[in-house]
Amino acid sequence: MGKIILVTNDDGVRSPGIKALFKAMQAVGDAYMVAPDRERSAVGHALTMHRPLKVERLGRRAWSVNGTPTDCVALGIGKLLPSRPDLIVSGINRGGNLGDDITYSGTVSAAIEGTIMGIESLAFSLLADGPRGPKPDYGTAARFARRTARFVLENGLPYDTLLNVNIPNAGKEGIKGVRFTRQSKRVYQGAIHEASSPWGEVHYWIGGGNPLWERGDDMDMEAVMEGYVSITPIHLDLTNGAAIDWLRKRWNGDGA
Ligand code: MN
Repeated sequence: MGKIILVTNDDGVRSPGIKALFKAMQAVGDAYMVAPDRERSAVGHALTMHRPLKVERLGRRAWSVNGTPTDCVALGIGKLLPSRPDLIVSGINRGGNLGDDITYSGTVSAAIEGTIMGIESLAFSLLADGPRGPKPDYGTAARFARRTARFVLENGLPYDTLLNVNIPNAGKEGIKGVRFTRQSKRVYQGAIHEASSPWGEVHYWIGGGNPLWERGDDMDMEAVMEGYVSITPIHLDLTNGAAIDWLRKRWNGDGA
């Protein structure tokens, strides 16, 4: 019996990124795909609780769900797979998941759900530049995903930790290596656009803008900009330990 691997994403079951990832995982273990029936990017860790979910069987080991990436992980583990998976892989997302953006990411949220369930989980994203940029090279990204999956099946991961992997779209020859990185800070400017409908109503469209990034050799964004694969270990405990003392000192000082 090979290792059981659950493959999901947020770009939808028909996206080229998940096809490449599913194929790559078939070389690593017994791969099963459970993915949203359409693109669900930027849905974060949303779980569908107020309507039933419809599952469509696409093949012996593939299903689509009319829900979120988190729904797919929950249904995959709880209902669809023959047994509990040894590994969950999410992606390969079209576009990076870097810095604070990971809090919106459906791709990373699927890996968060897996980690919460106590299963080693990985998120893969390929830096792809818009419709006019170079064609996204999912083949190279998938080979890297395969290598990372084998590493994790062999070594495990630290407690409560997932790997957020971002791959530059530089082709096999263009990638300089791997950097183990920190999640950087990002500030979007001018990301809300205003437009009028034909009936004169004002609408707002969130997206784009000119993001500013925190610099540093150990940062996720800087690694991919310099042609390295960025691997960030993400810890699910969001507690700022030092801030507990900060709070305690000031709270008591206030006489509260
Ligand atoms: Mn996406």
